[in-house]
Amino acid sequence: MSTSLEANIAKATALLERFRNQPLGHFVAGKHERGSSSEVFDNVSPIDERVINRVVSGDERDVQAAVSAAAAAFPAWRDRSGTERRKILHAVADAIEARREEIALIECTDTGQALRFMSGAALRAAENFRFFADRAPSAADGVSLPTAEHMNYTMRRAIGPVAVITPWNTPFMLSTWKIAPALAAGCTVVHKPAEWSPLSAMLLVEIMTEAGVPAGVVNLVNGVGERAGRLLTEHPAIRATAFIGESRTGSLIVGQGAPSLKRVHLELGGKNPVIVFEDADLDRALDAVVFMIYSLNGERCTSSSRLLVQRSIHDQFVDRLASRVASLKVGHPLDPATEVGPLIHRQHLDKVLSYFQVAREEGVDVRVGGARAEHPGPGLYVQPTLLVNASNRARVAREEIFGPVLTVIPFSDETEAIEIANDTEYGLAAYIWTANSGRAFRMARDIDAGMIWVNSENNRHLPTPFGGMKASGIGRDGGDYSFEFYMEIKNVCMAYGTHRIPTLGR
Ligand code: NAD
Repeated sequence: MSTSLEANIAKATALLERFRNQPLGHFVAGKHERGSSSEVFDNVSPIDERVINRVVSGDERDVQAAVSAAAAAFPAWRDRSGTERRKILHAVADAIEARREEIALIECTDTGQALRFMSGAALRAAENFRFFADRAPSAADGVSLPTAEHMNYTMRRAIGPVAVITPWNTPFMLSTWKIAPALAAGCTVVHKPAEWSPLSAMLLVEIMTEAGVPAGVVNLVNGVGERAGRLLTEHPAIRATAFIGESRTGSLIVGQGAPSLKRVHLELGGKNPVIVFEDADLDRALDAVVFMIYSLNGERCTSSSRLLVQRSIHDQFVDRLASRVASLKVGHPLDPATEVGPLIHRQHLDKVLSYFQVAREEGVDVRVGGARAEHPGPGLYVQPTLLVNASNRARVAREEIFGPVLTVIPFSDETEAIEIANDTEYGLAAYIWTANSGRAFRMARDIDAGMIWVNSENNRHLPTPFGGMKASGIGRDGGDYSFEFYMEIKNVCMAYGTHRIPTLGR
């Protein structure tokens, strides 16, 4: 990856050329398809709000074509041996690694995410494929549960064609997080990427196909959530929906899948607390606090958007934090020095800016930022913002802002910290900073969140369960948890032929 902004812009411009001439369509049964819909929408770059390309808005016929392709390809893919699937998925990982620069440059231009974070995203995506590839041969394994007169054994079978619906914040990595385990399990996929960032999904499906994933095993339909997404999640041939996005969309998806009794897996929003006690290693805590809300533009489901600081160290910690926030480098996402890039879309920028007004009206102090960032030229830039002296009842402490905005709430003791941490509709992640191990264990037990990190920022280990409780979601990804979702478990009970069968009507 180049270290010069100008060189990166030149490379990205050349890479995007292929998308400019005709609207981005779908990918069905191993081929690019224009689709039947005449409706198209613009895909706009957050860097300058210029139209990068146009996108076909998939309709009933497009969704039907993709689902039919996934259904037709399913039996053969399911029945391939796990070792064959492993080989193909490793080839996908190799191809992703080989094209990591292209993926990063396109992703940054499409989403506004800074290159310093996106340059590693393709490697994480490749790692998702490798991890699940290696587990494909044992995905169907079960257990034997014998009794004196019967042998019970279990096995797992791929559930069928699945829908994967993804958001715009880190689209490439998140798509692989769903698609890799689905393919390893033997499912076929129809993917609907977010309308604000559709480009890297097309790269992914092309890469998979070139690497040997057979036609129809992965399909892509572009379009708007309310139509293409809804039709997909309603379709009776789709057996399960793996969804990442907002909580209110997740609840719509449950309803849309209800008539066909569809299995759903929902990874939704968060308002995650990071709790800093006076006995913590405050230097490390400060680094982690800044990283977990201002990296990835704060557009991150596990961002620690509520900082709970113990009163005894509150002023000192917040002073140090304020000076770090004020020094964050806002800039062009392809500049290797940039720490915070432009927000995805004008609508999202307006939402984030509206919370600065809300904070002021609620009497929360805007200590740093609180406005659009000055930047030469156009672009959806916002100042990294620190809101202090908030009550946990304030809207900026309760609602997911999904931008580089941190709300600070003071607390006195462990009991109050747990109370504030749990006083939220969400339950995705929590971060605890303390040197007291007993307290760390108690808090980890008592905080209602699917993932707890103690003295650490978000640090992923792929076998561990990822997901949230309450309005943050249903289900877990990672390790075998992913296979539980993408596979049906069957029990087979066989008699030794010795037990007495009840006799009726003799
Ligand atoms: P969103 O819910 O608006 O959209 C997500 C996807 O759903 C898009 O592809 C969209 O087109 C589609 N969609 C919209 N309405 C639909 C419908 N009725 N039926 C089917 N599909 C529909 O979310 P977003 O704004 O793109 O993403 C941001 C959200 O994602 C945040 O809330 C964030 O916390 C969450 N997120 C969660 C995780 C996690 O792992 N928990 C990870 C990343 C992002």
